[in-house]
Amino acid sequence: MTRPTSAIIDTQALRDNFALAQKLGTSAKSMPMVKANAYGHGMVKVAEALKDMAPAYGVACIEEALELRQATIDQPILLLEGPHSADEVEIADQHGFWLMLENHHQLEAVVKAKLSNPINIWIKFDTGMHRLGFQPNEAQQVFQRLNNSPNVSKSMVLATHFSCADNLDNDFTKQQLSHFKTAFDSIDQPNLLKSLANSAAILDWPEVKDDWQRPGYMLYGNTPFARNQPNADQLVPVMHFQSAVISIRTIATGESVGYTANWTAQRPSTIATIAVGYGDGYPRHAKNGTPVLIRGVKCPVVGNVSMDMISVDLTDLATPVDIGEPVTLWGPGLGVNEVAHHSGTIGYELLTRMPARVPRIYK
Ligand SMILES: *Cc1c(COP(=O)(O)O)cnc(C)c1O
Repeated sequence: MTRPTSAIIDTQALRDNFALAQKLGTSAKSMPMVKANAYGHGMVKVAEALKDMAPAYGVACIEEALELRQATIDQPILLLEGPHSADEVEIADQHGFWLMLENHHQLEAVVKAKLSNPINIWIKFDTGMHRLGFQPNEAQQVFQRLNNSPNVSKSMVLATHFSCADNLDNDFTKQQLSHFKTAFDSIDQPNLLKSLANSAAILDWPEVKDDWQRPGYMLYGNTPFARNQPNADQLVPVMHFQSAVISIRTIATGESVGYTANWTAQRPSTIATIAVGYGDGYPRHAKNGTPVLIRGVKCPVVGNVSMDMISVDLTDLATPVDIGEPVTLWGPGLGVNEVAHHSGTIGYELLTRMPARVPRIYK
């Protein structure tokens, strides 16, 4: 007796995707991004599955880092947004977290903190995304202030984040690289390390040369690109989001399906009800025609997505299916990007919004 809805997490696929990131990075170290519950895959389990391969982890905030520490993850953990308040610098010191600094409030909090050990600092530069980061032309001044502080460990990392690297035809990434170079070159210090690449840059921007790369989405086996790309095509989806048929009926031409009756049968139709809805992270905005996979065949969602159920038109299936038939919502054979495309969003959002209601099953 269990609802047939779950997300099977393939930890071997996760490790293979991470190994691909490592291989593409040649001498760079790879830091898996496990923020937002590891893009919905379960942060602690994902971190544990990569424990013997990952030199460090990246998270958005200190709450996530503390959860990893409580789960006996003992590698360094980088807080990508840096400390949100001065007390977080001291907590970071106690737990061996690394800090990405992006503004002068954070910088002063680090310099003024009472720490037991020098802390590992990453300096983030705003090279065009205009979301976080110091300006490239203040690089020397920011670096010196930190370098003079006994609170700061001497091997600092300079970092930036790309806004358009997933668009292979957009040369904005090259402009960002050139702004980063300005910042990097203005600092007179031989041991500076660099960190730039997200998944898209790891997969397809060989001119980005990193000491630390930061793979996220690719680890979970999905491509950041809208079209085929030889490296991205080797990724294996880690999540298999699945459910099953719980009811079947035939309806006459002219009958409608679901809330607001917004889909009407144009022919006598076989309609299956599947035990998954927006309460499970299936997108409420999935349009008529969004595919689900049944026996390897893409079948269209019809009518509005309900909280706990969707309806699928099986009229064109060659063989009849019965209650209990397994259904893939996304995973191997049906990329989350394709479902996202039908729902006006991106795969990143669908994965990170998966609620706790969907049991994650690790294999
Ligand atoms: C989330 C994040 C990444 C990973 O991006 P992907 O596109 O998922 O690979 C890298 N760097 C920073 C700063 C991030 O916040």
